[in-house]
Amino acid sequence: MKYQLAVLGNPIAHSRSPEIHKKFAEQHRLEVSFDRILVPFNSFDNCASDFIQSGGKGFNVTAPCKQDAFRFSVTHSKAAELAQAVNTISTRDGVIHGDNTDGAGLKQDIIVNLGWTIEGKKILMLGAGGAASGVVGDLLASNPNSLHILNRTFNKAQAIERLHSDHRLTAITTLDMTYDLIINATSAAFNDERLDLPPSILCDSSCCYDLTYGRKVNETPFLIWSKGLGVTSVSDGLGMLVEQAAQAFEIWFGRNVLTAPVIESMRENGTTS
Ligand code: NDP
Repeated sequence: MKYQLAVLGNPIAHSRSPEIHKKFAEQHRLEVSFDRILVPFNSFDNCASDFIQSGGKGFNVTAPCKQDAFRFSVTHSKAAELAQAVNTISTRDGVIHGDNTDGAGLKQDIIVNLGWTIEGKKILMLGAGGAASGVVGDLLASNPNSLHILNRTFNKAQAIERLHSDHRLTAITTLDMTYDLIINATSAAFNDERLDLPPSILCDSSCCYDLTYGRKVNETPFLIWSKGLGVTSVSDGLGMLVEQAAQAFEIWFGRNVLTAPVIESMRENGTTS
C-alpha cells in the first residue's frame, strides 16, 4: 500500500519535508508519496479538503497556513490549542485532527541533540509568528527562569503572553539584559532582512538557536552575527525540522524513527530543496 502525504504552504518549493519523510518511511519499509502543495492566497481549506478527499493520509502545514490549519481542524492536541496553530493534520475515524509538533521538535533538538539546558535559564525569543507561538508552551514546560518575547509587531507578542498567562513569560519592547539562550523565530533571513540587535544581549556562554536553516550549517545571518561576537554554542533549525517531522510521522503511523542519521545525511546533502 502506498500512503499519500504532503506539506502545504506558500512558498513551498524550499520545503525539505518530502526528503525527511521518505527517509523515515524507508526505516520502516513503508511506501509513501510526499507532495509539496502550493496554497494560493485564501485557498487553504480547498487545498486541504482536496488532498484528503484524494486519499491523503495526513499532511504537514507550513507558513503562512498554520492558523488556517487550526481553524480547519475539528479536534486539536493540547500543543495546538496553546499555539492556536497546527503544523500536522491527521484523520481519526474521519475526523480532522490538528497537532503542533514544532515545540516538541525544538525541545528535542535543544536538550537531547545539542545537550543545552532550558531549565533555570533566561531565554529570549525573537519573533511572535506561527513558529514562535508553536514553541512557547514546550519551552515553558521545561521550566526556564524567564522567557521574554520581542517582536517587531508588539501586540502579537502580547497575544502570546496573554494566551499562556504564565508569570515567567513577558512580551518586551526593549533589550536591556543578557540572555542564556536566544532563539530566533523570525523570518527576517527568509526575506533577506537583518535583525538589529544590541551585542549586550550576549555573553560568551550564551547559546544561540536559529529556527531558520539554509544551504550551509549554522550560517544564517543571526548565527553569523552571534559567532562574530564570540558565541560558540550555535545551531540552525535543521535538527528541529527533522525532530518535528519525526513527531508527525509518529502521529500518522504510530512508529518511532531514528532522527540522527537523517539529520546527518541532510547536512551532507546541504541543499534547501
Ligand atoms: P511567520 O510569518 O508566522 O512569522 C514571522 C515572524 O518574523 C513574525 O514575528 C515577524 O514579525 C518576524 N519578522 C519578519 N521579518 C522581520 C524583520 N525584518 N525584522 C524583525 N522581525 C521580522 O513565520 P513562522 O513563524 O512560521 O516562521 C518563522 C521562521 O521559522 C521561518 O524562517 C521559518 O522557516 C522558521 N521555521 C523553522 C522551523 C523548523 O523546524 N526549523 C519550523 C517552523 C518555522 P511581525 O509579526 O512584526 O511581522
